[in-house]
Amino acid sequence: INILAIESSCDETAAAVVNNGREVRSNVISSQIELHKLYGGVVPEIASRKHIEKINQVIEEALKEAGVTLDDIDAVGVTYGPGLVGALLVGVAEAKAIAYARKLPLVGVHHIEGHISANYIEHPELEPPFLCLVVSGGHTHLVCVKDYGKYEILGRTRDDAAGEAYDKVARAIGLGYPGGPKIDRLAKEGNAEAIKFPKAHIEGAPYDFSFSGLKSAVLNYINGCQMKGESYNPADIAASFQKAVVDVLVEKSMAAVEEYGMNKFAIAGGVASNSALREGMKKACEEKGIAFYYPSPIYCTDNAAMIGAAAYYEYLAGTRHGWDLNAVPNLKLGER
Ligand code: ATP
Ligand code: MG
Ligand code: FE
Repeated sequence: INILAIESSCDETAAAVVNNGREVRSNVISSQIELHKLYGGVVPEIASRKHIEKINQVIEEALKEAGVTLDDIDAVGVTYGPGLVGALLVGVAEAKAIAYARKLPLVGVHHIEGHISANYIEHPELEPPFLCLVVSGGHTHLVCVKDYGKYEILGRTRDDAAGEAYDKVARAIGLGYPGGPKIDRLAKEGNAEAIKFPKAHIEGAPYDFSFSGLKSAVLNYINGCQMKGESYNPADIAASFQKAVVDVLVEKSMAAVEEYGMNKFAIAGGVASNSALREGMKKACEEKGIAFYYPSPIYCTDNAAMIGAAAYYEYLAGTRHGWDLNAVPNLKLGER
């Protein structure tokens, strides 16, 4: 089964051809990062317009790179939520048009199901059940993947997402957008023990997260130094902040692995490409004697190959969407 997958939920216009959910035949991503950098974050209206400009070209490239035509495509998969409504609509309208014209099944996919499914691409042996920590620009979810398409959310962030915290702290120390990769790099030159930042634990909700207090602590630390006329070391801030994030993510994930008796653990989403998080999780999983899975960086941040992987398993489960498929900006994981 060859699936043409389309992703346009935020600031990446992406298309891919994926065979049987795990073999990526092409993966084309047109990123708008340079455009949004000017504003320090994604501007929704600009994102929608750019998606419209790029989408046909990106799909054509994906077909060409895969060495196929639409005649070889068996189904169209598309992200229909969550995300920016105007951005999502571009992909959804395009997918519906192609599926309608070519009489192909249409499979709407949840963006986070896509991030989780990115792990299937390079790990042919990985099958549910497993536990997955999703850490992206808009989500921090600890998810039990009970079966393909069957998810139980064990915990989530109460405020900022992990990626959002990275981006905000990066802005505070003058690194610019997107901050995650820049903090990752700068942290390597800093001392992670230099500053003690708080690690939030939420009473009665062991798998929930909170990052806004940590973000405020970093801002307060910087303001404090400035008030006292002292200089501060951005690399130490980056390393200490990152340690606080990674420690909490590792602790909570491993506690859940223990409680749910899981022997497989995966990470997903843009922050899953963070080197300290990968190292921390790898070490913790080794100590526990469980298998650890993570996607290559290109499959961590937004891409359409992960949507193709997710769409395949939805397709097998019989998920089909009609011509009334709409963008759902606040779509819940597991909803159809
Ligand atoms: P969502 O998937 O929740 O809708 P999104 O699609 O915008 O949000 P992703 O593309 O999954 O998010 O990830 C982008 C986020 O990942 C950004 O916040 C970015 O700073 C962060 N990120 C990317 N690389 C790294 C890294 N190496 N270290 C830390 N954070 C990173
Ligand atoms: Mg993005
Ligand atoms: Fe994403």
